[in-house]
Amino acid sequence: MILTDYHIHTPLCQHATGEPRAYFASAADRGLQQICFTDHAPAHDGFDPTNRMVMEQFPGYLDNVGQLQNSEQLSVLLGIEADFYPGAITFQPDWIESHPFDLVIGSVHYIDDWGFDNPATKDSWKSVDVTGAWRKYFKLVAELADSALYDIVGHLDLPKKFDYRPADTDIREMATPALDRIAAAGMSIELNTAGLRKPCNEIYPSPLLLELAFEREIPIVFASDAHSPEEVAYAFDKALDLALAAGYTNYLTYSERKTQVRPLPNRSS
Ligand code: ZN
Ligand code: FE
Ligand code: FE
Ligand code: ZN
Repeated sequence: MILTDYHIHTPLCQHATGEPRAYFASAADRGLQQICFTDHAPAHDGFDPTNRMVMEQFPGYLDNVGQLQNSEQLSVLLGIEADFYPGAITFQPDWIESHPFDLVIGSVHYIDDWGFDNPATKDSWKSVDVTGAWRKYFKLVAELADSALYDIVGHLDLPKKFDYRPADTDIREMATPALDRIAAAGMSIELNTAGLRKPCNEIYPSPLLLELAFEREIPIVFASDAHSPEEVAYAFDKALDLALAAGYTNYLTYSERKTQVRPLPNRSS
């Protein structure tokens, strides 16, 4: 089985339930060896305030994670899910460097000022140019890769969340430059099982995008994007099957923002 879950939230983001200790216990119950807390990073400029901790809460986040880091049973990493948006560039480089993160997920949740994956704005998908929105999204992901700020791209095809999708030929064409730049940046991508809990009912990324990632030798990590303790390691058997089907034989672990390669288990074991 897969023994690491590298995307776990806490109630500080204002839309997750369960204390960090409960996520830890759930991971231990499921036999994981390592988890990484990656709550939504605070912003210095008031960006998207309802989905993250405020800056003053960040020391508390460090304490919460730190208190779980002495266990023999389960190793706990310190991470963060940082938003790539225009204001990030001025603040995040120094902020990320000044904290002892084991890994940093870079995510795009906004196209211009539209929080496109926010359930509250879900209906706006009905009236937008879906293909155009996806195209803008992948341009941002390419810029995210070029920023060299992050280790892992979060939920690579997040715009599919509410199941509004362009044709595969369009996705292939618009995602190719982004994937080339992710590869050039030496970043990995998540197999993020949260998509299975959303209307799209599919892991992020799709089999098509994972195939394109594999062709470019972009490494993978496993991620539940848990917002409640029972979601830890959610459907990791399906994520493993997806990885194997795309041709992957390895996945990555992180520590202090350095990677190690680990063999994927066989489907049957
Ligand atoms: Zn969240
Ligand atoms: Fe996210
Ligand atoms: Fe997340
Ligand atoms: Zn997320």
